[in-house]
Amino acid sequence: ILSLREVSKSFDKTPVLHPLSFDLQPGERICILGPSGCGKSTLLQIVAGLTQASGGGVFIDGKPVEQGSLYVPPEKRPINMVFQDYALWPHMTVRQNMAYGLRRQKISKQEMNARLGRLQELLRLNGLLDRRPSELSGGQQQRVGIARALATEPAILLMDEPLSNLDIKLRTDMRNELAALLGQLSIATLYVTHDMMEAFAIADRILVLRDGAIDQLAEPHQLFERPASPWVAQLMGYHN
Ligand code: ATP
Ligand code: MG
Repeated sequence: ILSLREVSKSFDKTPVLHPLSFDLQPGERICILGPSGCGKSTLLQIVAGLTQASGGGVFIDGKPVEQGSLYVPPEKRPINMVFQDYALWPHMTVRQNMAYGLRRQKISKQEMNARLGRLQELLRLNGLLDRRPSELSGGQQQRVGIARALATEPAILLMDEPLSNLDIKLRTDMRNELAALLGQLSIATLYVTHDMMEAFAIADRILVLRDGAIDQLAEPHQLFERPASPWVAQLMGYHN
């Protein structure tokens, strides 16, 4: 559903992403795992259209959304994103936040209410729809951020360290919740984290990114059994 071909990015003249290519299959969840500063967020932002690549092509369902001078803006891509800091609108209620992305979609009031109702159930937000973000716990805010991203029914979901703002206990709970939810939805997802436990709970495949290049892209068990580099081996906890 999503293909990257030789996508690269430099800021000024410093390369942040070296030409990299991979495909995300329909319904597949790929976790992008790597240390701080390796280019994870930059990669997601290119896919979302929030940053332009310096080279290469991004294709959705085989059609280019970025290639040479062609550039499809974020709102025209069938993509939605969950940010690390939730980025909820503080002056809006939960309901208004969830409906925010729907304003541009031409859907009936009835359809809108049906979707919000489903998401409220799915993300256990019952009774919270009229509150503002400041009246919610971190985990609840996070669930609103996810509900908002899902409300537009995007073909591709991007999540950038969605749990990193939560305390350890909540994070463990949410990790399992999210793994179950994403499994149930079978929506194509790129999920950025530097937490290996999270990656193993959520991923169909893990993409290990180091210094802006792909070290390995494989199923979780393969990273253990056949690490492609000493660095991946170290990440998996092998000591030599
Ligand atoms: P973290 O895990 O800390 O979020 P990350 O893997 O998401 O890290 P990026 O945010 O993609 O890393 O940043 C990759 C590199 O690009 C970093 O060295 C960063 O300083 C640099 N960078 C990111 N955005 C810009 C920008 N707008 N201008 C210049 N340099 C940038
Ligand atoms: Mg980041």
